[in-house]
Amino acid sequence: MASLCLIPLLLLAGWMTPVWAARGPLPEPALVGELSQLENDALPPRVFRLRVAALAAHRDSYSQPLQGRITRLQCWARDAERTSEYEMTIAFASQQLAVARRQDDRQTEAGLFICRGFNQQMLGNMTQAKADYDAALRLAEALDDPRLKSDALSYRGDMFAYQGVLSQGLIDLLAAYDGYVSLGQEGLRLKVLAQIANTYRRMGIYVRAHEYFEEVMQAYQQRHDQNSLIDVGTLLAILYTDEDRYAQALPLLEAAERYYRQEQREMDLAWIRVELAWSLLNLNRIDEALIKLEQAKPVLYRYEEDTDEATLGLWQLVMGLTLEAKKEGDQALHYLARAESIFRQEQNQRFLAWIYQARARILEQQGQVNGALAALQQYVRVKSELDDLLNEQRSAQIRLEFDLARKDLENQTLKTRQLLQAEQLKQLQERRQWQYAVVILLLVIMGMLVLYLFKRSRKLRQLAMTDDLTGIHNRRQIQAKGEEWFRQARDNGKPLSVLLLDIDHFKQVNDRLGHHMGDQVLAAVARCIAAQLRPLDRVGRNGGEEFLVLLPDICMAEAAEVAERIRHRVSQLHIEGMPQAHPVHVSIGCAQYHPLDDSLGGLIQRADEAMYRAKQAGRNRVMRAE
Ligand code: GH3
Ligand code: MG
Ligand code: MG
Repeated sequence: MASLCLIPLLLLAGWMTPVWAARGPLPEPALVGELSQLENDALPPRVFRLRVAALAAHRDSYSQPLQGRITRLQCWARDAERTSEYEMTIAFASQQLAVARRQDDRQTEAGLFICRGFNQQMLGNMTQAKADYDAALRLAEALDDPRLKSDALSYRGDMFAYQGVLSQGLIDLLAAYDGYVSLGQEGLRLKVLAQIANTYRRMGIYVRAHEYFEEVMQAYQQRHDQNSLIDVGTLLAILYTDEDRYAQALPLLEAAERYYRQEQREMDLAWIRVELAWSLLNLNRIDEALIKLEQAKPVLYRYEEDTDEATLGLWQLVMGLTLEAKKEGDQALHYLARAESIFRQEQNQRFLAWIYQARARILEQQGQVNGALAALQQYVRVKSELDDLLNEQRSAQIRLEFDLARKDLENQTLKTRQLLQAEQLKQLQERRQWQYAVVILLLVIMGMLVLYLFKRSRKLRQLAMTDDLTGIHNRRQIQAKGEEWFRQARDNGKPLSVLLLDIDHFKQVNDRLGHHMGDQVLAAVARCIAAQLRPLDRVGRNGGEEFLVLLPDICMAEAAEVAERIRHRVSQLHIEGMPQAHPVHVSIGCAQYHPLDDSLGGLIQRADEAMYRAKQAGRNRVMRAE
């Protein structure tokens, strides 16, 4: 027994260094574990890059499909802050696309399309970006690969939303969201939910945006995922600035500033400082705003042509407005003109409206009446275009949510009918103000319905994992958990023990006291076992009157103690309706993971053999596997 306990200790040395820091190529199971972590978990960029680089160093020693997955990660792990870096990543992706096509590796091809599309998008090449996302989506559909499909949809949707094509963006994002929910990809679900919230912000539907941001922030807090918390915090801060709630935006932006400085994310840091300046300016803290702008300036101007244009444009805009506040009209006009050329190219109407409005104010103060009038006319034109677009988007949004509701809520016909009536009512309203009121009301109701659906689907998932009769894990779930921990034990050398329990002479309970009594005994034994376990341990009904217990971080000797305690407690159970003459007891086999176990099945098999020996030896006892 002592020697069995020693094995984990011997493996501990290997466990102390993370898998990815291994010097040579990884064994396949460890590699697969590492790959899926890198693909699914939101890691801070620096950590992500290090770990991908470690994998890529031995890429050639792995099998071809795994090499493809590494290639896709490499595409995402490249530096991506400046024009030249985006261009280099596009070249990398194009070259690897050709390789993947030659090898007929369509998964990799689709993944690379998404990565290339994203980098095209960052360069402002929206047409090429959309073509790449579309190509990825077609491949994912042909492959019937739900994960790739959701990936492509989430990127395309976020791009549409950024461009202001909000309802189309929302359709893609909601489809991606559903995909991740049914795949059980919690991290990716949260990422898309944040994008959905951000889309609602862009639509001006702030209540919904807040609701979703709050859900996402809470989830990240629970996961202690600081990196994602900061990134979403910045989106929330922008929502506050959209609502003119600058004092609330400030602490979020300051937290992001600290974090990006510490993580040395230069361009993000510059951008967040511009956002800070914007809030400070609006709080009338003009000198502090100027300091932030000066701090952001060196990075933005260091690379001349090769900088992040959108951030530079924003910087020039905020600089212009700050100088206006400092009564330096000529300087302000100069910066506004430079910002205008960037945002004209980006077709960013919102920022253009600000620029024209500020220009009109400044020129008016300078007594240049004609110029002021021209700027004002430009402002009015852009602003009314913006308003029209927003109205159009909002009514498209209502139709969209309405369709979704009809599809998903067949059993909620009553509410649907109410909504229909409300919809017709809205059309009857002549005055615009009333139309808005109905629209907002509808959205709130739909929001509640969608939320209700999310919650219901979560509950359904939970039901699918538990055993009806006993309320503990069902076989599928306990086996899945077992497989996961078995892999961890094998890859990291963490100890893992299992107990296999079988109720003795259970058939007699059914035969003599009826099936109903049998059911009650099963439930009572399940409760009794669960009560003896740590929160970390798991118990599931493995079949009939047999239970499987998983005990992570525990050696054979301790596992046998737990088993003995369970056996004793079960033998003392008082179950209503059970005659004294018919005591309930269990036979238990224990086994600890051993490197020779080739699968979870092998480990359970050894526990089963021990349990069989317990039966042979007279039942109501614990036996340890060899
Ligand atoms: P042993 O001590 O060797 O394990 O004898 P046993 O009678 O417990 O074992 P056996 O495999 O002969 O019988 C198991 C019985 O468990 C047979 C089956 O009808 C009963 N059973 C399986 N699932 C349920 C259930 O959900 N409810 C009830 N009441 N009985 C069940
Ligand atoms: Mg039995
Ligand atoms: Mg049995």
